[in-house]
Amino acid sequence: MKKKVVILGSTGSIGTNALDVLSRLGGEFEVTGLSAGSNIGLVSAQARKFRPKFVCAGTKELAYKIKSSLPSGTKVVAGTGGLKEIVASCPADIFLIAISGTAAIIPLVEAVKKNKRIALANKEALISAGPVVMELAAKSGAEIIPVDSEHSAIFQCLEGKREYLSRIYLTGSGGPLLDVSAAKFDSIARRRILKHPKWKMGRKITIDSATMMNKGLEIIEARYLFGIGEDKIDVLIHPEAIIHSMVEFADGAVLAQLAVPDMRIPIQYALTYPARKGSHLKSVDFTKVKALSFRPPDGKKFPCLELARRAVRAGGTSPAALCAADEEAVRCYLEGSIKFSEIPEVIEKVISRHKNTKKTGLSIGDILDAGRRAKEEARAICYH
Ligand code: NDP
Ligand code: MG
Repeated sequence: MKKKVVILGSTGSIGTNALDVLSRLGGEFEVTGLSAGSNIGLVSAQARKFRPKFVCAGTKELAYKIKSSLPSGTKVVAGTGGLKEIVASCPADIFLIAISGTAAIIPLVEAVKKNKRIALANKEALISAGPVVMELAAKSGAEIIPVDSEHSAIFQCLEGKREYLSRIYLTGSGGPLLDVSAAKFDSIARRRILKHPKWKMGRKITIDSATMMNKGLEIIEARYLFGIGEDKIDVLIHPEAIIHSMVEFADGAVLAQLAVPDMRIPIQYALTYPARKGSHLKSVDFTKVKALSFRPPDGKKFPCLELARRAVRAGGTSPAALCAADEEAVRCYLEGSIKFSEIPEVIEKVISRHKNTKKTGLSIGDILDAGRRAKEEARAICYH
């Protein structure tokens, strides 16, 4: 029996890498569902190649436009309702959640209610709704396998030994501004900031890497995925990007996972776990890696790291507000309405004003509402 895979966000960086992995894995997998936001040209080409049962487009208008270009057995749906319909009705063993940003909250929540595997690339949904998502998964038996390279590394290092975990070392390349002084940030062109030295990713996560909010978000992601306190998660700058993270056990032993920086490795692992299948990708050439270096992050230069820690310590709806404020601030930066250095300032203002009244027993409605308010506030600050 072929394993059935639904890829939500199939037109993005993770989505296209996942389809590449699945093409190479051959006959064991079958793609049954795909979704795009606005790139309907690409999703219809993907549909003609993989012949899924469902395709979701970002809006009804886009769905109407692609209908005639899809294979006859493919049903087209649209928007958030369409994503919900795919999760509810599309035959699936694995849901790869590769939509970017908080738009993934609803599909992730629907998917974890099912007793299926979730290959989780998106981080914003888990960060916004961590306790709710983990509780739903525990109830349904859904298996969450992280795709984010650091969390995949941690997951791999922990196999069978989770109870002995005492510390996580979350590594990060440092992003495109690692060696640029903060005073120069605003004079660097956006297109240069959008060129990450080690990873080719979507625009939002690339800007998050430059502000280091990506690492801040990953602290929260690790906190929920592995049930460890935020104070037990250290960030290490590791510019070579060969070690993808490390775990320390109670006895002081440390395990690390190493590989070339290529997202197809953690994507494939999340699909084939617990098996390790062959891959055409390069191995690490240790004779060419001159050194593996580490340094602590510069918290003054990259205040987003501390903002993320503040939000996860506050709990409740604060991580949702953080995520939403970041998403909106990054959008405004990409639209040209704020400077790079203003991104953390906007987020700081939003989370400082955030009224975190309900700390436990949160519903998805509370989380979506907090996110909506934080986005409105961030946008108002950016455009005032
Ligand atoms: P991209 O921007 O490349 O792709 C995002 C995907 O989501 C596209 O398919 C896009 O559709 C779709 N999408 C965006 N907004 C919406 C929306 N409102 N409704 C429906 N679909 C939408 O992002 P990445 O692939 O880089 O990242 C995806 C997720 O994975 C992010 O959460 C990121 O943090 C995480 N991640 C990514 C890594 C990477 O290497 N890229 C590494 C680790 C984690 P379309 O393009 O058709 O509009
Ligand atoms: Mg990562």
